[in-house]
Amino acid sequence: MRIAVAGFWLESVTFLPTTTDIAEFERSAKRGADVISGFAGTATPQGGLIDVLAEAGAELIGIVDAGVGAAASASDAAYDKYVGEIVAGLKALDRPIDAVAIHLHGALATPTNRKADAGVLQAIRAVVGPDVLIACPMDYHANLAPESLEAADIITGFRFSPHTDMWETGARAARLLLRALRGEIRPVMAMAKPGVALPSVFSATRLQPLDELVAEAEAASGKGPLLDCSLFGGFSYADTPDTGMTALAVADGDADAANAWAERMAKRCWTLRDQLFKRELIMTVADGVARARAVAAASDKPVCILEHADRLNDSTYVLRALIEQKVERAYAPFMFDPAVALAATKVGVGGELRMPLFGKSSPKAGGPILAPAKVLCTGQQRFRITGPLKTGMMIDLGPTAVLNVGGVIVSVISVQWSAIDMDCFVQFDGMTPADFDIILLRSKTHFREIYEPLCAEIVIVDTPDWGPAELSALPYEHLPAGVYPVSA
Ligand SMILES: [Zn+2]
Repeated sequence: MRIAVAGFWLESVTFLPTTTDIAEFERSAKRGADVISGFAGTATPQGGLIDVLAEAGAELIGIVDAGVGAAASASDAAYDKYVGEIVAGLKALDRPIDAVAIHLHGALATPTNRKADAGVLQAIRAVVGPDVLIACPMDYHANLAPESLEAADIITGFRFSPHTDMWETGARAARLLLRALRGEIRPVMAMAKPGVALPSVFSATRLQPLDELVAEAEAASGKGPLLDCSLFGGFSYADTPDTGMTALAVADGDADAANAWAERMAKRCWTLRDQLFKRELIMTVADGVARARAVAAASDKPVCILEHADRLNDSTYVLRALIEQKVERAYAPFMFDPAVALAATKVGVGGELRMPLFGKSSPKAGGPILAPAKVLCTGQQRFRITGPLKTGMMIDLGPTAVLNVGGVIVSVISVQWSAIDMDCFVQFDGMTPADFDIILLRSKTHFREIYEPLCAEIVIVDTPDWGPAELSALPYEHLPAGVYPVSA
């Protein structure tokens, strides 16, 4: 078996005024044999694909893998470049292949292409023809398009958010692909959309009733003709015709069974739409900070404040409130500001910075903090992620610093990255959560794996940033009519 392996992944926040360009994709881009060696053994969908296919004795040919987490739409130039590389790489193969295994996020968009994941799959299909199988593990936050089902043979999504099953999802796609290649199964797919868009902060799969729905999909997988059932939470900050939740079933030759399951699950989601959208959990900044201070005062555990609407890791709404209220023992990890990190490196430990801090990424970021900042430590931060997400993957945050800004401890990074695990403590001079009463995060769901057990409470605040829980505040142009809670 010869199988080509590729990846092109981005969770596109199409409302952001910028684009994610080639330079940002190149930071993690791998080519040729490095695609295989770079992902083998890592807790990623590519790692799951590669480990299982290699174990089965497949000959794996790396083409290209490039991706960015959650950021602005891919530039058209970046889309053309990486799709062009995948196509050229497949055309240049000296011998025929049996399959293509590709990881896509499922919420890829460019300023001119709102069905970009489908575009990637269609481009691959056009090169390899109808007989080569295409398997694609996708992110749970995919906005699945019907065109993707037409172009691919096997699509499966992460079951959980936090995405603790990235490797397992890649492995599941690989196992289905191997069975299909051996002629044991004939995968057919069907999908249905309930017409529900979830804010990312409510897409956590341990929240009720989402956990029940995800468990139902898991339980249906492998029953009768159903090989695999996915429930996608969708990504509401990508404005596309396909935005929203999707139920997807892969069945063994039985399209009716796949369709019946997807339709049934979509109806369940629609019926539960009010419970899925947890409006009662959203607080203002003032109420959220007051709540966090009160709970922390009565607990020996820290409280997490979630400034989840921040999509660029630099918004200052909660940080400003903490400084103004002179809150002590508070930590704001991984604030993105390369200029501040560089200046801290130059002035050195013990020095003081007097420059605008954070809040510069867009007019919605809350504006810079103007308080003086004392430099507590500096350094390049390159380390292997401790996990549980993307465990073992090497990350380079560039120049970093830890500052005391008006009494609040802030770690500053030079590469867009979100604090979701213990790395924002352990990689920075051995800080520990026990040092703090309040931890200010910007994650949507992934932080929960570590911070739910660690914290006395998770306090969700909404700010006027790019990723609010109140989706109806966003200027959708491509979302179809009748999608709850925006237009239904
Ligand atoms: Zn996701």
